[in-house]
Amino acid sequence: MIGAGLIGLAIAFELAERGATVRVYDRGEPARAASWAGAGMLAPYTERVADEVLLDFCAASLREYPPFVDRVRAAGGMDPRLRLDGVVHAAFNQADLERLQHGARELVAREVATEILDRASLLSVEPWLGSQVAGGVIVSGEGCVDNRRLGRALVSACQTRGVLVERSSAMHVECNERRVLGVHTDLGFVAAGAIVNAGGAWASQLQGIPPSCVPPIVPIKGEMLALGAPVDFVRHATWVPGAYLVPRDDGRLLVGATVESAGFDERVTARGVHELLHAALSSAPSLGSFAVTESWAGLRPGTPDGLPFLGPTPIAGLFLACGHYRNGILLAPATARALADAIENKIGPELQSFSIERRTEESSPSRITRM
Ligand SMILES: Cc1cc2nc3c(=O)[nH]c(=O)nc-3n(C[C@H](O)[C@H](O)[C@H](O)COP(=O)(O)OP(=O)(O)OC[C@H]3O[C@@H](n4cnc5c(N)ncnc54)[C@H](O)[C@@H]3O)c2cc1C
Repeated sequence: MIGAGLIGLAIAFELAERGATVRVYDRGEPARAASWAGAGMLAPYTERVADEVLLDFCAASLREYPPFVDRVRAAGGMDPRLRLDGVVHAAFNQADLERLQHGARELVAREVATEILDRASLLSVEPWLGSQVAGGVIVSGEGCVDNRRLGRALVSACQTRGVLVERSSAMHVECNERRVLGVHTDLGFVAAGAIVNAGGAWASQLQGIPPSCVPPIVPIKGEMLALGAPVDFVRHATWVPGAYLVPRDDGRLLVGATVESAGFDERVTARGVHELLHAALSSAPSLGSFAVTESWAGLRPGTPDGLPFLGPTPIAGLFLACGHYRNGILLAPATARALADAIENKIGPELQSFSIERRTEESSPSRITRM
């Protein structure tokens, strides 16, 4: 496994639970890149994932989250704090409210538990929303996970299941024209029957890969910050115009996130912080008295068509698990299951749309939007 983000670690854990011998290599600290920087929202419907196949995969992953977290907790002894108690989307004018209500009716027709909230009901659920709020919706089965805790929990669960999680500053895959042979690390050559490129935003830079197997991944920067708020001041992950707010049970209230093509720049900028605070405080002026306790940035692994690259490649034994863009935390359980199946040669139709064979380098990243 190359890359110890949530994706690489989740696959490694799944494979180890199925009895495989697994090594995970990362040039940095495990679970510190995008997987640490994300907000941990598990909200494919609120997020409005447009592609139907991707939405189905996201929905499957959301269903798989509770048993996945139970297994990780049982193996590693750490609770990633999964909360599936609903995600709120608030509107501040009539046109936005009608759009939300229309979307909510479509979700109900698809049997996704969704409730339309008038202004009074919304304020009883989230009293901190400002006086201008018009109403909103809540998608009941969505929620969030503390992705930083999940990362630590997965490292611990992997180690308990015998996975070696190691650092290597230089990684070079060796393959012949038909199949992978192994990987060169700082400590020498390690033979491998299967190698998974789970390199996140850096997946296209992995050395030793033939061009037909290089995924066209682009980094999409996201800045976030945290406010110190009383626990339960904000009760649910909540979307407001231009930002979302995600409460943690340690008192941090996350405010996210900018979306920007800025190469591999991971600086927090004055403009990013300004945009996030402006959006949050416009919707809820009461947040203005809280301390800004943290700010950070991370790189989402974007793809030209917004879909991840998952599954086998033209080189036998070389697999891809990258390009999860805005939904890699959500997609960790389903990705782990599907990739472990693929490595065990049980490839169903589920991964077809995510194959490297579709390479779409020419198309523009049209699905990239704000927030
Ligand atoms: C601000 C922000 C908010 C987000 N919010 C959400 C959210 O609410 N919900 C959600 O589902 N998703 C969210 N995401 C997206 C999510 O974080 C990512 O899709 C996900 O973390 C990707 O996981 P990963 O394991 O593929 O990549 P990463 O976590 O980036 O891990 C990749 C790892 O690979 C390593 N690596 C790369 N190349 C090599 C190499 N050659 N050799 C050795 N190691 C290598 C890197 O060091 C890194 O540790 C957000 C992302 C950001 C930035």
